[in-house]
Amino acid sequence: MSEGADMTTMTPIFPSSTDAAGQRATLGVLGGGQLGRMFVHAAQRLGYFTAVLEPDPQSPAGLVSHHHIQTGYDDPAGLAQLAQLCQAITTEFENVPAQTLHTLAQTRPVAPGAAVVGIAQNRIEEKARFTACADVSGVSCAPYAVIETPAQLQTVLDERAELLPGILKTARMGYDGKGQVRVQTAGALAAAWAELGHTACVLEKMLPLTAECSVLVARGWDGQVVSFAPQRNVHVGGILAVTHAYEGALPPALADRAREAAVAIARHLDYVGVLCVEFFVVDDGSEYGGLVVNEMAPRPHNSGHYTLDACDASQFDLQVHAMAGLPLPQPRQHSPAIMLNLLGDVWFAADGQLREPDWSAVLRLPGTHLHLYGKVEARAGRKMGHLTITGPDAASVTTVARRVAEMLGLPGLDAM
Ligand code: ATP
Ligand code: MG
Repeated sequence: MSEGADMTTMTPIFPSSTDAAGQRATLGVLGGGQLGRMFVHAAQRLGYFTAVLEPDPQSPAGLVSHHHIQTGYDDPAGLAQLAQLCQAITTEFENVPAQTLHTLAQTRPVAPGAAVVGIAQNRIEEKARFTACADVSGVSCAPYAVIETPAQLQTVLDERAELLPGILKTARMGYDGKGQVRVQTAGALAAAWAELGHTACVLEKMLPLTAECSVLVARGWDGQVVSFAPQRNVHVGGILAVTHAYEGALPPALADRAREAAVAIARHLDYVGVLCVEFFVVDDGSEYGGLVVNEMAPRPHNSGHYTLDACDASQFDLQVHAMAGLPLPQPRQHSPAIMLNLLGDVWFAADGQLREPDWSAVLRLPGTHLHLYGKVEARAGRKMGHLTITGPDAASVTTVARRVAEMLGLPGLDAM
């Protein structure tokens, strides 16, 4: 069995079915974080059994799954057990070894496939693919240069002065702003590359952002595509802090362009599963045409968590449908929403003492939906949960969100 385009005739996996050995229909996920946990919830709501492969015995997803295989992502016995238990497998963790997905795909449908996850794991390949489909997506990347060798660094220093000031980003393993150094000058660039251990990087021109947004797309084995409306995201310290998801959060024409671009990228990649494409919005009238594609995540995304409470199908529902070969419902947002991320910082009082936040005060406010991920230890910067605020209109949602942000000391609500 193979992945992606070869799987157009996938037979749907029905939740109540059993195989010849009497084993219940089971969906598997690589990774045990909060994205895996919300995937498990969605799969179980439909009636599937679930299996999580994740070494941490206390992982958010492992704690709620029917099966929890506690091995590394490249452990042959663990992978064999996952393939034996599951009728289809997905991932919640984009840095899962591509070889793992290849191995699993020998015997089971794996969505998204190894090839596309491999692209998303490497900024150099990712940007090359965005560039290759720019004519159909209508969006380009920020101007950039690949720096993998001292000679390439020298060429950039000699010939690409327009890329400074810029951001040097490691090609692999970056997330939440990690593996990035902002550089103003040629001297700083050379020093930054040394600081990053002379590893493969891209230098990206620093753009004048007016906003950031993302689009969640789901694509089935048969090529059916559905998408959510784009949401506006605010990052604080390189980590997503706030998602604004309501009409008017973005200019309508820009939102349409972003949505069409994300769908075009999913098609170009022959993607199966849920894909998040992140965009920069730059000063209008600029040479970049207002919208620039930043990066993609081959899985549901933090910026799509509002879909759990504000839409009639969530990003996790679509992940389940896509991998299991079920029809993809076009999701409908029924409520304006703001999502506030809850980092571990919220658990610390002003004097540095660890204490439980006053959830009663928060939950007394109308339209507040609290999601905690079951992580035992609160640490600064650690994603512990999120709050979605829904309401009849954007103004009332914003009012409640402000009060919540004030109570919990959450940043970013009034930022761009
Ligand atoms: P994620 O957690 O989304 O995976 P990441 O660590 O992979 O993030 P990026 O999305 O590349 O990193 O960058 C993090 C943030 O830094 C962006 O959301 C944006 O606010 C800012 N940023 C990145 N690149 C640029 C750029 N070229 N110009 C201006 N700001 C940028
Ligand atoms: Mg990002």
